Amino acid sequence: MNGTPPPSFSTSLRWTHRFHQLGQAFYTELGAEPLPNPHWVARSPDAALVLGWPAEWWQDPQALAVLSGQGQWPGMRCLASVYSGHQFGVWAGQLGDGRALWLGEVETPQGPMELQLKGAGRTPYSRGGDGRAVLRSSIREFLCSEAMAALGIPTTRALCITGSALPVQRETRETAAVVTRVAPSFIRFGHFEHFSNRGQLEELQALADFVIQHHAPECAQDENPYAALLEWVSRRTAMLMAHWQAVGFCHGVMNTDNMSILGLTIDYGPFGFLDAFDPHHVCNHSDHQGRYAYSQQPGVGYWNLYALGQALMPLINDTDIAVAALEVFKTEYPRAWAERLRAKLGLQVAHSDDVGLGTSLIHLMAQNRVDFTILFRRLGEFSSAAGAPNEALRSLFIDREAFDAWAQTYRLRLEREPEGAGPVRDAQRAQRMSQVNPSVVLRNHLAETAIRSAQDGDFGETEQLLKVLRQPFDDEIPGISRADMARYAGFPPSWAQQIEVSCSS
Ligand code: AMP
Ligand code: MG
Repeated sequence: MNGTPPPSFSTSLRWTHRFHQLGQAFYTELGAEPLPNPHWVARSPDAALVLGWPAEWWQDPQALAVLSGQGQWPGMRCLASVYSGHQFGVWAGQLGDGRALWLGEVETPQGPMELQLKGAGRTPYSRGGDGRAVLRSSIREFLCSEAMAALGIPTTRALCITGSALPVQRETRETAAVVTRVAPSFIRFGHFEHFSNRGQLEELQALADFVIQHHAPECAQDENPYAALLEWVSRRTAMLMAHWQAVGFCHGVMNTDNMSILGLTIDYGPFGFLDAFDPHHVCNHSDHQGRYAYSQQPGVGYWNLYALGQALMPLINDTDIAVAALEVFKTEYPRAWAERLRAKLGLQVAHSDDVGLGTSLIHLMAQNRVDFTILFRRLGEFSSAAGAPNEALRSLFIDREAFDAWAQTYRLRLEREPEGAGPVRDAQRAQRMSQVNPSVVLRNHLAETAIRSAQDGDFGETEQLLKVLRQPFDDEIPGISRADMARYAGFPPSWAQQIEVSCSS
């Protein structure tokens, strides 16, 4: 008997193919190299919500196969896109989706969203790579994408990880996994650099028009839409840099091919969150020059925008206008950073010396190697009462007198808030700050613990850590023990310093 297939949510998906319309210069259509005998590793309920998918979407009979590269849902059309870029400040020529497979765009309540499989095999852009991603790096990308979203930081999303026993050689032998990523667009600065560098100006213009039409329609009204686009990207990048700096996030590989045209955090590799504060911290073990150190990130963001500006020059056609569009970063970044810093300090109105107050705290943190996340979390508990010892905070510093001096300045500043100081005000400020300064971020050792269990076939820690990272501002989470909460929110163990994260993923 020829029965109809059971009703499944996948048949209700509406796929669109706007990127295809750009034409063949932009991509190669191809299929995945499937993961053999795939299994589920993790799924993000929040990412499913973004897509407007039912919570049980993964019970679709084809879901596991499709998201491990073994098949396609009706309406999908897979491709790998081509881009170029500057890597570590040097022009690297053609790169492209060497292990990412674009499945298409699916209609969602928030508009079309692109879906990508990362690690689904070789493409024409693999350049000798194996097209794979290992379980270790897939768990890091999955957890951090979802953690950043919960922190309110623009990012690509991660829907799920599928895994397999397929061996993959890195420094050691590991196993393969595939992350399904979600974003309104995966277009990078490097896509523009690619066509500009080759003098393919029709394609360059088509790409710029595409981004303006679908993502930045307000630029179309401008006298010079391409300069408006550059300014639009500069603003978004400035905002992103301020967000990163404010949570102590180091991306690790800020090459222009890893910069999203939408200002999203993209391509999670050797990233890290600061533990003991060192402004010159380099999270990527392969970055010997420290080009992408924490303190360098805003400057590199500007450098990358400059590369984008150069790529757009044939369209903008006026150096002064292009420079003016880039200059926006130089006003927007300090503005966005000041705004974030003020919120971290619990200040509601702006005073001219607020950044100075925050910066002097940050200098003190650097001198005393104070834990970045714990310091700001404890700052929320600051008592503004005269002579209050604020011991939990004070004890984080070796130089206690220096802290006391800073605390006195902070106390005086709090008195200048329109609401004034005092215990009721302190409690209100504490409440506000607890929604700005997270209790838990994805520290390397937390990811590492989840990875080690997963490599032994136990995905429980990945699942529990995701649950905590989804609520990074909460001290208590139903179903998570006090001991585990203390572990997630506490100081890193001594072995955390030995973790080396490199580009290999
Ligand atoms: P990344 O620095 O990880 O963003 O990657 C830089 C370039 O190398 C991109 O074009 C990637 O697609 C490509 N790439 C990285 N790892 C692999 C791999 N294992 N196989 C194929 N291409 C890769
Ligand atoms: Mg990349």
